[in-house]
Amino acid sequence: MSDRLPGFSTLAVHAGAQPDPTTGARATPIYQTTSFVFNDADHAASLFGLQAFGNIYTRIGNPTNAVLEERVAALEGGTAALAVASGHAAQVVVLQQLMQPGDEFIAARKLYGGSINQFTHAFKSFGWNVVWADPDDIASFERAVTPRTKAIFIESIANPAGSITDIEAISTVARKAGVPLIVDNTLASPYLIRPIDHGADIVVHSLTKFLGGHGNSLGGIIVDAGTFDWSTGGKYPMLSEPRPEYHGIRLQETFGNFAFAIACRVLGLRDLGPALSPFNAFMILTGIETLPLRMQKHCDNAKAVAEFLAGHPAVASVSYAGLPSDKYNRLARKYAPKGAGAVFTFSLKGGYDAGVNLVSKLQLFSHLANVGDTRSLVIHPASTTHSQLDDAAKVKSGAGPDVVRLSIGIEDKEDLIADLEQALGA
Ligand SMILES: *Cc1c(COP(=O)(O)O)cnc(C)c1O
Repeated sequence: MSDRLPGFSTLAVHAGAQPDPTTGARATPIYQTTSFVFNDADHAASLFGLQAFGNIYTRIGNPTNAVLEERVAALEGGTAALAVASGHAAQVVVLQQLMQPGDEFIAARKLYGGSINQFTHAFKSFGWNVVWADPDDIASFERAVTPRTKAIFIESIANPAGSITDIEAISTVARKAGVPLIVDNTLASPYLIRPIDHGADIVVHSLTKFLGGHGNSLGGIIVDAGTFDWSTGGKYPMLSEPRPEYHGIRLQETFGNFAFAIACRVLGLRDLGPALSPFNAFMILTGIETLPLRMQKHCDNAKAVAEFLAGHPAVASVSYAGLPSDKYNRLARKYAPKGAGAVFTFSLKGGYDAGVNLVSKLQLFSHLANVGDTRSLVIHPASTTHSQLDDAAKVKSGAGPDVVRLSIGIEDKEDLIADLEQALGA
């Protein structure tokens, strides 16, 4: 072997995987087992005490899931990763390691609708308080910092309008505040943006979307950049203080630059329980093998569709960062030079009724609540994913009543444009 480092497409196919040592199976097997036999009593005790790495029980770890974890860590440039049952589970597990009741975290206002809900309502019952900031106004993050702030959470490409976040500017705020920057990289995937290269300390994904890529399996993942010092100021006791469940070890001291991923596994996943099925891990691994090919096609198609819509007389505006006239185009050229993703919004001159009418007339586009499928998808956020927000908050999050969201698939772009043309014209 030469000593050159493998490129992204090579990692997408190979990272973390070896032929199965007992059978020679080349594809990663689905280890569909709940538990794993110990060599002897000492081995069992050392696994339980975190003195040795190995498999115990699939709620804590599984060999199929381990290949997925190593692969995504390699693609994102992190030190380690932890796969969980969904993107939402990843968010809960990450914040559980950082937050105590009464603590705060700052989140960008432009987020996946489900995350807005989770942060506002579900997390309140844990005593975790979200403070909203505007990703287009970096100073709003600075102003939101208090002594109780424990993290900053943003999306790299933000749902629903596909706006691009200035990750480096917000990472500077996080650094100054002494808190980690968490980046949800779901809409970009590491093929378009690698947030760790721009200062993220933790990356989360809904694997359900572009990484799995085929709309058939839920999953989530947490990637540890290995960059954050958890020991300062006693701010992160889960990582810096002795853990009573593990004979008093301190995770940061014992595990160094992958302590956060370990905490998520041995304190988060083990005790909260949102384990990923090995079958889903297998489906998502298979999806990731073609990520670079799919993602490029998604982006090329999205650009062609956005250009078509921008020139159509029934369309009032298109929000796609890949268009030169778009307000996020400068950030897109900096952070996502290969393409500005495949999820974006547009608004119709006919307002709410025209949006609903368009969705009902489309034939090739599926009307459903997902993104990042091979198939092209359409939804009206104001009446669905963002319906829980009041009108002002809808507009602020990019989901006003006249807005339609598309997730462009990997079909032939001419067919997508023809479908939109008939639905808009009819
Ligand atoms: C879908 C999604 C989530 C939630 O992921 P699930 O796998 O559905 O739990 C979080 N963030 C973004 C950007 C998403 O698109």
